[in-house]
Amino acid sequence: MPYEELIKKAIKAKQYAYAPYSGFPVGAALLTEEGKVYTGCNIECASYGATNCAERTAIFKAVSEGERNIEAIAVVSSSDDYTYPCGICRQVIMEFGNKIKIIAARSEHDYKVHVIDDLLPDSFSSEDLKKTGGGYKDGI
Ligand SMILES: [Zn+2]
Repeated sequence: MPYEELIKKAIKAKQYAYAPYSGFPVGAALLTEEGKVYTGCNIECASYGATNCAERTAIFKAVSEGERNIEAIAVVSSSDDYTYPCGICRQVIMEFGNKIKIIAARSEHDYKVHVIDDLLPDSFSSEDLKKTGGGYKDGI
């Protein structure tokens, strides 16, 4: 799927954002390696810590439906500038692969593509837990 199409889906997902506290609606569209798309928006809460970002909404939707092979995630916001995943989302994206592409888009014609490993270098991961012999079990 061309990135332009993925970005259009992220823009559409942004319209469902529930962002009454920040006033900063965000949309994301995740592309699996098999070509399926899962979208997400940010969902805020009066108890701010319960807020969930658009990227994680898309990832949790995909994973909860059996997907784990993520190829790319497009992110858009109401800002005129490029919007990148926050630190928490970068960590969650990294959980599913260090080569996942992040598409920070201002529009379907104006975007930047990065690899998550470049946005979260020297990250903590399941590999660190494997070194100690605990904490991570394949297939669960
Ligand atoms: Zn985030």
